[in-house]
Amino acid sequence: LLPLTAVAKSDWRRVRPGGPDDVTAIAIHYMGKEYFFPAEGATEQDEINQARMIHIYHLGIGYGGIGYNGLAFESGRSYYTADYNRWGAAVKGRNDSTLSFAGMFGGHVIPPRGIQDGLADLIGDADETYLADSERPVKGHRDFTRTSCPGDLWQQWVPGLRAAALQEGDMAMTPEQQAQLQRLILAEKDFRVVEKQVWEAIQSLQKRVDSLRDAARSQGPSEARMRAIAQEEDRKLKVTK
Ligand SMILES: [Zn+2]
Repeated sequence: LLPLTAVAKSDWRRVRPGGPDDVTAIAIHYMGKEYFFPAEGATEQDEINQARMIHIYHLGIGYGGIGYNGLAFESGRSYYTADYNRWGAAVKGRNDSTLSFAGMFGGHVIPPRGIQDGLADLIGDADETYLADSERPVKGHRDFTRTSCPGDLWQQWVPGLRAAALQEGDMAMTPEQQAQLQRLILAEKDFRVVEKQVWEAIQSLQKRVDSLRDAARSQGPSEARMRAIAQEEDRKLKVTK
């Protein structure tokens, strides 16, 4: 998750008087048709330029700056674009009680995996850094107001984001695992061996993340089911002690 301080110009926004307690839901958006999307292979700079474009566009229609708290791109990268502790400008009548994250796609489609992953990262980040890990419901913009956003197929993918974000959090390395990885790197003299071990550790974590994400998408957000899968994965891969 990359901070986009250059884009965030959110001083104009009202501070949430109750802080994170004011936030009752996370709203998911798409871009509709008005925007140009970076093609496959877009660089970080392309994406930041895209975010700036939205910022300028929103200034042009009378907002104080970019209305979304975060953006997710097809590359899988996501960007924090505005302060969680202030009102956004994305859900009419509900900006006081929502955080808003937008996927960089338009039209009535299921967004590519990179965008879904990026949105799940943003949700997980908001859980961790602002919402004290109490999981607010993740909804489509059209759950709140009359709008096409985020596309007609939203019910096929928006509900899966909450589960994907939770798994993301569970998959993060514990401080012990991080320390262990660091010891491995520092202690070993044969760096080729170390590289291989680190590579394998990363691969196996990645596999767990992927398989749990797939499960989240096919099963929907059933917590018991996700736990069972996670335990099974732990047993098979023995990544944790
Ligand atoms: Zn929207």
